[in-house]
Amino acid sequence: MPEKRYLIAPSILSADFLHLGNQIEACEKAGADWIHVDVMDGHFVPNLTMGPFIVEHVRRGTSLPVDVHLMIENPENLLEAFAKAGASHLTVHVETCPDIVGTMKTIRSLGCKAGVTLNPATPASALALALPYADLVLVMTVHPGYSGQSFMPDMLPKIADIRHRLDALDSDAYLEVDGAISATTLPEVRSAGANAFVAANAIFKHPGGITEGIRKLRKVVTT
Ligand code: ZN
Repeated sequence: MPEKRYLIAPSILSADFLHLGNQIEACEKAGADWIHVDVMDGHFVPNLTMGPFIVEHVRRGTSLPVDVHLMIENPENLLEAFAKAGASHLTVHVETCPDIVGTMKTIRSLGCKAGVTLNPATPASALALALPYADLVLVMTVHPGYSGQSFMPDMLPKIADIRHRLDALDSDAYLEVDGAISATTLPEVRSAGANAFVAANAIFKHPGGITEGIRKLRKVVTT
């Protein structure tokens, strides 16, 4: 299926947690590729969300890769706990890792795919050391912390810049985007070079339901 060159990763940040199992199952049936888990610690970002306990339950509820985005200070302290809980990908913020190469290597040594991400204010050049070790690069297209913000079009040149850097390294790392991705914003980030798309409200709050939300994104991404 050639359209699988583009991956859709529903972020459970917008899920109904009373029905999390059913909602993840609906995502999988509708053709989602990864389940994205937004971990926030109340320090690196103001919001406080979920930890390894939730990841463990998500892992039990799906056969899809569990894509864990760590918006936390000192992520090194919790990498092993998230790996043991069943994370497939662990993505750390470059701002939180004084030894980003060491952290990426640790993630791989735990059997996970290593991801690196950066805040809107952080330039693409901050990723230079990490890119050769990255299986996944995530570009934030809103300020991390809450769902429901407006897409930042200023991030499009940064996505293109990182796409060039990955191509120059002959890297097959996924270039993922996270923040206000919808059927409207998806074509722009895809054109800039992204090939994995996190979506929260566009899926879990879609008026037609989860299946329709994913179907719409899949249609847009393959058009
Ligand atoms: Zn995320």
